[in-house]
Amino acid sequence: MSLAPQYDAWADRFEAALMPTYGRPPVALARGEGCAVWDVDGKRYLDFIAGIAVSSLGHAHPALVEAVSRQVATIAHTSNLFLHQPEVLLAEKLLALLGHEGRVFFTNSGTEANEAAFKLVRRHAAGTGRGFVVAALDGFHGRTMGALALTGKAAIREPFAPFGVDVRFVPYGDAAALKEAVTDECAGLFLEPALGEGGVVPAPDGYLAAAREICDATGAVFVLDEIQSGIGRTGWWFAHARDDVRPDVLTLAKGLGGGLPIGACIGVGEFGTTFDKSEHGSTFGGNPVACAAALAVLETIERDDLLGNAATIGGELADGIATLSHPLLGGVRGRGLWLAAVLTQPRAAAVQAAAQDAGFLVNAVQPDAVRLAPPLVVTITEVQALLDAFPAILDAGLEREA
Ligand code: PLP
Repeated sequence: MSLAPQYDAWADRFEAALMPTYGRPPVALARGEGCAVWDVDGKRYLDFIAGIAVSSLGHAHPALVEAVSRQVATIAHTSNLFLHQPEVLLAEKLLALLGHEGRVFFTNSGTEANEAAFKLVRRHAAGTGRGFVVAALDGFHGRTMGALALTGKAAIREPFAPFGVDVRFVPYGDAAALKEAVTDECAGLFLEPALGEGGVVPAPDGYLAAAREICDATGAVFVLDEIQSGIGRTGWWFAHARDDVRPDVLTLAKGLGGGLPIGACIGVGEFGTTFDKSEHGSTFGGNPVACAAALAVLETIERDDLLGNAATIGGELADGIATLSHPLLGGVRGRGLWLAAVLTQPRAAAVQAAAQDAGFLVNAVQPDAVRLAPPLVVTITEVQALLDAFPAILDAGLEREA
């Protein structure tokens, strides 16, 4: 008899009713509280992936529940025909956190934030003859056509070509390659401050500053995609703040809404007014409920010093992994609560499955990298539980079929 009868039944129905884009998901989640989640058969897990760096306050956080419940009971939707207070408050708050003048455009997702940024870059370049943009190999910017065109992984991008835009790819982290590619004819440069889907690979020190300099010298628009790295994940509100680099355009999503769908494209300085009236829009973008959720996320991060928590607890997690000695473990990379345990063999899928058996949700982000991105509220006790279990998980990852 199956040990997970509810899972089996729901996964069969999932596969029959949903497009096969996600395969057969390994767990069917029913509910969560803090960093713990329970599946439909009642098994408890500690969540070390937070819905891909999204559930920044963990699950069912009272501040999020209260803000969303209050907003949905007040007014759930206005469309962009009318303004609502949460969007104004949130835009003001994001600009204050960023520390630059600018303007915000709200979206529902990360890919839409990058679509807005891409359109903004092209609008800025209109009439200048600047015909191409530059992005990084192994970078990831989303799955809609514009963001996909910028995504530097051929296997994801090429089945959907052509895109009708000239995107030139450079190796990530190589400032000399950037200098060669970003010329006076370049309209814009799209970079992540660390490759997220590429395996949580931070940029080398000085790389973002070099990118800024090159864009200043050539007039290309510097777009930083902080959709995964932003909103406290690295122990900074924005990962680029550590490098003291100013982007021209910043895109956000994931952790901003703490689980409610929202993204943002922020134009810094003059780029705040590149779009004119009617040049971009979204019916749902900046929806009152999503904005109320995001405000609650930002207030809670501030009130509970979750940036400090991400830095210190993330440091403990990274140090704990670094000191483990295991033949499958090659090291750890990343910052704050955004880490990858690097494997010596391409066994990440097996490690993910072994972790799941042991009651931990982690993510095989690359064949040889296991991503850890727990809620920003994770405690040292929860981190210690994973560290205690990790050697046995790695043992099983070496032995089991992925
Ligand atoms: N940009 C980055 C850096 C991402 O990590 C992702 C998603 O993983 C996206 C864009 C796309 O975001 P979404 O899945 O919300 O469209």
